[in-house]
Amino acid sequence: MENSPQLRGWLDQFNLDHPLVIAGPCSAETEEQVLKTAHQLKDTDTSVLRAGIWKPRTRPGNFEGVGALGLKWLQKAKEETGLMTTTEVANPIHVDLALKHDVDILWIGARTTVSPFMIQEIAEALKGTEKTVLIKNPVNPDLALWLGAVERFYKQGVKNLGVIHRGFSTYNKSVYRNIPEWQIPIDLQNEFPDLPLILDPSHIAGKRNLIFELCQTALDLNYDGIMVETHYNPDKAWSDAKQQITPNTLIELTENLRVRNKVS
Ligand code: PEP
Ligand code: MN
Repeated sequence: MENSPQLRGWLDQFNLDHPLVIAGPCSAETEEQVLKTAHQLKDTDTSVLRAGIWKPRTRPGNFEGVGALGLKWLQKAKEETGLMTTTEVANPIHVDLALKHDVDILWIGARTTVSPFMIQEIAEALKGTEKTVLIKNPVNPDLALWLGAVERFYKQGVKNLGVIHRGFSTYNKSVYRNIPEWQIPIDLQNEFPDLPLILDPSHIAGKRNLIFELCQTALDLNYDGIMVETHYNPDKAWSDAKQQITPNTLIELTENLRVRNKVS
């Protein structure tokens, strides 16, 4: 895979003078929750609404997502707010359903990036399409697996690509839920400087109070965007409640980043 400015082309459509903001709940829970959050996000810097429909929980027994039903809610949110949408796909059936419901951007979860078999199947399902695909780092700190996933999409002609840095799991205790290991995305960017890089501070932090400093570090490292889990009532979220913020807190976050970085 050659490095190519073409990889960044999909970012142009947003016409932004600040990093791309993707925000929305960890999980789509109800139609009301998705719409309410989306409407509140309309008044923020957010360009793309995120919500997980199929949730890859590490252990069974937790909320595993509403499934395809949630795609209709995302569609409605897009119609009502004009926000673009993104959701996680983990197999070719998900891809098919997401495409049928006009999801704008697909993301690959950290537990999928570890599986070259699954990545290959998803990449083949998207063969030759213009779809934008954002690939989260694998759960484990393995640069080759991450690069390999990017290359599998590229080889199928999927060239509107980006990567999401969501941190890496560790058995050792840490203040982070997933340790950032900033060097890994830097090494990835050294190979593919034109591949857009987005920070997911929510899954790195695991709690709200570390999100700002993680975003600041990402800006210092010239990341292209952030994906922040945002819920109109975070404490009541059905998944990842501790790390989600309200749309109002997101406004504060981006304003503070703006002031600190003196960008317009
Ligand atoms: C998510 O974005 O809600 C999610 C499940 O993320 P990850 O794949 O990074 O764990
Ligand atoms: Mn989550």
